[in-house]
Amino acid sequence: MILFNDQLIRREEARVDIEDRGYQFGDGIYEVVSVYEGKIFRLEEHLQRLSYCAGEIGIELPTSLEVLITNLYKLIEVNQLVNGQIYFQVTRGYAPRNHPFPAQPKPVLTGYVTRKPRPLELMKTGVKAITLDDIRWLRCDIKSLNLLGSVLAKQKAIEQGAFEALLHRNGKVTEGSSTNLFMIKDGKIQTHPLGNLILGGITRIVILELAGQKNIPVIEEPFSLKELYAADEVFVCSTTSEVMPIITIDGNPVGNGSVGPLTRKLQELMEEMLFAHQEK
Ligand code: PLP
Repeated sequence: MILFNDQLIRREEARVDIEDRGYQFGDGIYEVVSVYEGKIFRLEEHLQRLSYCAGEIGIELPTSLEVLITNLYKLIEVNQLVNGQIYFQVTRGYAPRNHPFPAQPKPVLTGYVTRKPRPLELMKTGVKAITLDDIRWLRCDIKSLNLLGSVLAKQKAIEQGAFEALLHRNGKVTEGSSTNLFMIKDGKIQTHPLGNLILGGITRIVILELAGQKNIPVIEEPFSLKELYAADEVFVCSTTSEVMPIITIDGNPVGNGSVGPLTRKLQELMEEMLFAHQEK
């Protein structure tokens, strides 16, 4: 079963017009949330981001957030999802193809569950990354359906046997193609500040929170590729990748080439938080 606006229907019954603006223009936004033991992790923050993004592009959500929360939990229930994810998106809906917003837009919300296992093995061993020019647009803070820049970057990474492409713009490292990026140097954690050049990740919020609780110094300032190469530890994070250690960048080892102690610590703290979240 899938969510279609405010209805739960069979996937085969869902019908989106070929002139849906999401399909033709990428005119819409999306969210990916993780479900652990039947509960959605940090749903409030995900919905805040959805509302922010909807506001930034002038889309009115087809249902209230309260109704959406109820429906996401119904979706979990009918699909008997215990651990997995929900993908949901909102497009500006159908209108005869024309760039300007339609006079009376009818936004379309669709959502469905996926059951990707947590990448626990990769989180243990760490993964490889490459660096690439950030060719995306200048509103990366909007979780837009237009993902071509990210798709091309991720494909290059995969073709080179890497997990992620770390992007840089004007000499500064921004984020991964589908993750936020952190580096650690001399016990301090550094990540690009919020703004139009990165997506404000929910996992990023969690990491900053955990670091704060443990008095680990955090710097939210841009850093260069050179600084990235010289980092003691590097990791990327996202809803589906959680805290993913990067052990080589462009073929060069990060630190001593294995997962570093602070990255491990943050993984452990996040794990604890996931358990606490289940008990709520
Ligand atoms: N940055 C980009 C470009 C992303 O696409 C994502 C997630 O898809 C993230 C960061 C991480 O965001 P979150 O932690 O909310 O999943």
